[in-house]
Amino acid sequence: MTQHPLTILVTGGAGYIGSHACVELLQAGYQVVVIDNLCNSKPEALTRIEYITGKTLRFYHQDLRDKTALAAIFATETIDAVMHFAGLKAVGESCQKPQLYYDNNVYGSLSLFEAMAAAKVKNLIFSSSATVYQETDQRQYSENHPLGAINPYGRTKAMIEEILRDLANADTEINAENPWKIILLRYFNPIGAHESGMIGEDPDGIPNNLLPYISQVAIGKLAQLSVFGNDYPTPDGTGIRDYIHVVDLVKGHLKALAALTTEHFNNGGCKAYNLGGGHGYSVMEIIHAFERVLGRPIQYSIAPRRAGDLAEYFANPKLALNELNWQVEKTLHDMVADTWNWQTKNPYGYNSP
Ligand code: NAD
Ligand code: UDP
Repeated sequence: MTQHPLTILVTGGAGYIGSHACVELLQAGYQVVVIDNLCNSKPEALTRIEYITGKTLRFYHQDLRDKTALAAIFATETIDAVMHFAGLKAVGESCQKPQLYYDNNVYGSLSLFEAMAAAKVKNLIFSSSATVYQETDQRQYSENHPLGAINPYGRTKAMIEEILRDLANADTEINAENPWKIILLRYFNPIGAHESGMIGEDPDGIPNNLLPYISQVAIGKLAQLSVFGNDYPTPDGTGIRDYIHVVDLVKGHLKALAALTTEHFNNGGCKAYNLGGGHGYSVMEIIHAFERVLGRPIQYSIAPRRAGDLAEYFANPKLALNELNWQVEKTLHDMVADTWNWQTKNPYGYNSP
């Protein structure tokens, strides 16, 4: 990479995690270029990134599958590294529309990697997911846990990881002077919002995920939360996940970006890191944390288990601590309070008056 200020291309930069990454990058002195087709986001998020940071970014309203548009962007901009967030992410929808997911996520990524290689931009941070791991008796996942995604969404992530490992392997043999330097970040459960309450998760329609659902119950948009199963082999019977504050998560991306320039990556390569807190919380613990922030009860009822859900899993985040010098800093209270701050300031998300 060249000298500062480095320019980072953020694909999916108008989305939930990408918008928080743009804020951290701009605040850290990077220049930011965003590509987003706005299929699951609003341009208002970009305006708010600029408002929070007092800095500007350059935005291209384009689809990653448009190779001509990508080539033009790489010809116009001098990009040092790419953070690749763009993708579709709803597990249920991926089971109903697998072709859409393979086309958007896998073909879209291939199109991006082709444009990067043509422009000789070979530093990449990729948004992967804990869904690439296989279900086993082990509840804590290290990076060497067996892989085995169980739905089309997870398989798109697993396939993109494979493609990137193959790219890096091929490259160290034939093109050592400018090798691919790739970090795969496997996220656990990102929640929360920027402390300003100006950017956050803005799901379309009824949310699938726990935190947006509880917030909409708390604000009165939804009547009650269904707790999917209280007969799991966990202390209170409800499912356990490793929730991570979105700001901690994106700080992990900046650490990963810095790691690409260290001698560890001199010869290129492709390496995966978990981004999680290393601690699981049950659905009931999340409800109680939310109730403490609200000062009143959350309406919920126990419902049957949701198909495909595991009882419990959480990250082993030691590799990211040892090699990226990253660990979570925010507490469960921060995650819930920031989710609620965003919800109350924006009851209708980015469409709020
Ligand atoms: P998001 O939907 O809020 O953001 C994704 C962005 O990508 C959106 O702005 C969307 O408009 C854009 N996009 C999608 N397809 C595109 C295409 N073909 N061309 C251009 N833009 C496109 O999702 P998010 O929660 O911010 O997730 C970001 C990434 O992290 C995704 O790749 C997701 O799979 C991954 N991830 C998310 C979670 C999570 O729980 N949020 C967990 C693990 C991994
Ligand atoms: N969950 C729930 N009710 C909901 C949504 C989620 O009880 O309306 C539970 C779900 O069964 C899991 C946890 O909350 O145990 C986290 O689910 P989420 O969809 O947020 O993330 P996942 O880990 O499934 O990707």
